[in-house]
Amino acid sequence: MSGRPIVMIVDDEIANIELIGAMLEEDYEILFARSGEQAIGIAKKTSLDLILLDVMMPGLDGYETCRRLKKDPDLANVPVIFTTGLDATEAEIEGLSAGAIDYVTKPVQPASLRRRVGNHIGMKQMRDQLASLALVDPLTGLGNRRMLETLFAEEMTRVARAQEHLSIILVDIDYFKQFNDFYGHLEGDDCLRAVAAGLGGAMRRGGDLCARYGGEEFACVLPCTDLDGAMHLAEMLRARVEALAIPHRGSSCAQVVTISAGVCSSRCAPGMTMSRWFEEADRLLYQSKSAGRNRVSGAALDWA
Ligand code: GH3
Ligand code: MG
Ligand code: MG
Repeated sequence: MSGRPIVMIVDDEIANIELIGAMLEEDYEILFARSGEQAIGIAKKTSLDLILLDVMMPGLDGYETCRRLKKDPDLANVPVIFTTGLDATEAEIEGLSAGAIDYVTKPVQPASLRRRVGNHIGMKQMRDQLASLALVDPLTGLGNRRMLETLFAEEMTRVARAQEHLSIILVDIDYFKQFNDFYGHLEGDDCLRAVAAGLGGAMRRGGDLCARYGGEEFACVLPCTDLDGAMHLAEMLRARVEALAIPHRGSSCAQVVTISAGVCSSRCAPGMTMSRWFEEADRLLYQSKSAGRNRVSGAALDWA
């Protein structure tokens, strides 16, 4: 991660914010909010690492603010520590059941606060790292199959709501087994990395995703893109990989590493399944292979 972790202090009394801020400012970037509403607004706009939340505030109190933060999937993983003058087990239980990870009572002890904040931020960073590892293919740095499946499901719902098109491109390296046989598995890995970078670098629109689908296969998900648009992009991908000019003496279709692709496209409707999309893309990919490789085949997905 870049820069210092960001901690937001939420308290209706500015004196408390100053006091707690002074305890943490050496190690953290400090933001503050003076109400629950303001805190939620800032949390939505900033990537926070931890929130210190006062319980008793006019308007939204700390408990309700915490419940709202925890209900928002984008904010739920930011750890919340309650700070309060209430020294009662009941208040502590209510705070923890609202989703807080810890609880400190005022007057706040500087050393204890620093230690708690440090521990919780360390654990959050570890959780973030694990979450990203589980979705990223270590060899190529592209998203993995799990990321593809998660994103595909989300995009399908979003695109269906807008009654828009979705397209997918399934890409497979030609004669890759022979590449490994000729140059060795390590060169094969380098080749996969180079092809992945070429494909990933061609995704220009924000919502487009290119992931590693399996061994030497990649898949692109293109929301709000029709068949023409997807065919155009697939042809560009094919040309980009050819232009990498990675020598391939084992290939029967070119002197260099090439790819074949299958493209399918449809307006999204409720009930469509990912497997049906990929079956169709796989069929079209096979068509490209049997027509001689280093080419692109596409069709509209007939959802009857
Ligand atoms: P086609 O043109 O029909 O696609 O032929 P192909 O040889 O590419 O197809 P096949 O599916 O038979 O072989 C895929 C090869 O990809 C086999 C496997 O050794 C190789 N492969 C899969 N994953 C990796 C990897 O992570 N690293 C390396 N180096 N090779 C891999
Ligand atoms: Mg294959
Ligand atoms: Mg192959």
